[in-house]
Amino acid sequence: MNIELMRKLTQANGIGGCEDEVRDIIAEELKPLTSGLRTDAMGNLIGTIEGTGGPTVVVTAHMDEIGFIVRFIEESGYVRLQPVGGFDPRTLVAQRVAVHTRKHGVLNGTLMPGVKPIHLLGPNDKKELDLQDFFVDLGIKADDVKDQVQIGDMVTMRREFEEMGDMVVSKCLDDRIGCYVMIEAIKAVGKVNATVIPVAAVQEEVGLRGATTAGYGVQPDITIALDTTIAGDIPGMPTDAAVTKLGNGAAIKVFDSSQLPNRKLIAHLQEIAEQNDIPFQLEVLPRGGTDAGAFQRAAAGSFTCTVSIPSRYVHSVNEMCAKSDIQACVDLVAQFLREAGTRDYGYGIG
Ligand SMILES: [Zn+2]
Repeated sequence: MNIELMRKLTQANGIGGCEDEVRDIIAEELKPLTSGLRTDAMGNLIGTIEGTGGPTVVVTAHMDEIGFIVRFIEESGYVRLQPVGGFDPRTLVAQRVAVHTRKHGVLNGTLMPGVKPIHLLGPNDKKELDLQDFFVDLGIKADDVKDQVQIGDMVTMRREFEEMGDMVVSKCLDDRIGCYVMIEAIKAVGKVNATVIPVAAVQEEVGLRGATTAGYGVQPDITIALDTTIAGDIPGMPTDAAVTKLGNGAAIKVFDSSQLPNRKLIAHLQEIAEQNDIPFQLEVLPRGGTDAGAFQRAAAGSFTCTVSIPSRYVHSVNEMCAKSDIQACVDLVAQFLREAGTRDYGYGIG
């Protein structure tokens, strides 16, 4: 496995609308594999691998990570934040962040909630944390903060990529590990019948926005989205609510709140996994969605499914994926691309 590429992708920083650093890395990887690499008005990165007359197949993963922008700078120099994407405030206490300024480089800071410390808490003080409670301390004078930081500057979480046992752990495996699977599957695939269009999408975490324009722009026949999903195989989770388990293989999406995937496409992916001894699990995610939902409904629609990489602790800086699941996703997507065009997923009337 290309661990160094995983490290590079996860250590890059890019919230919705600020995916430049990630786009540059993916463009470098895709350039030798594609023709006509381009961006659209939203910032999606789109390439083409010409086939020999088969269908047009989009393989897509999103580049953006959840993060913040600077909302307000206090007189005292503390920085207040606007979340861009869905955070659980319980995962944010005592973290470290990076403030990416326009003209003064990256400033490191601590992220803490502006509430009384635990040993000063009275019985009537609130104990629940809100996202609005958090502030950044940059460790510099208030005047310097006002000089160097401005409203709208990107703020990202800091956490190193690490190999841990059979797993990898990092910030924003959601969805840089999907970007990794997209790149590695395309590297592995060789010459195929289908025209393959890799799409590195922007602004997924704020509502599948990049995928919406990419879907209209490309209008593919088939779309496979690659994203992380919940692996709830942890203490405190009822077993029926786990969604997936780490190490049980690539997750083939059956349901989420953004799409009902094409049933024939689900079956095809499942058969490919069975015939090629690729470990897989079927995934029903009661809440949450992926970019496949936007592609499914763009223009006159496309046949869509999502191949998910199971992840524990989603939307925290300790997102954890199994190396074997990541490889299973690469193998499944690569084999699908080889077979794309051999099946009809349509609803023909005789
Ligand atoms: Zn995601």
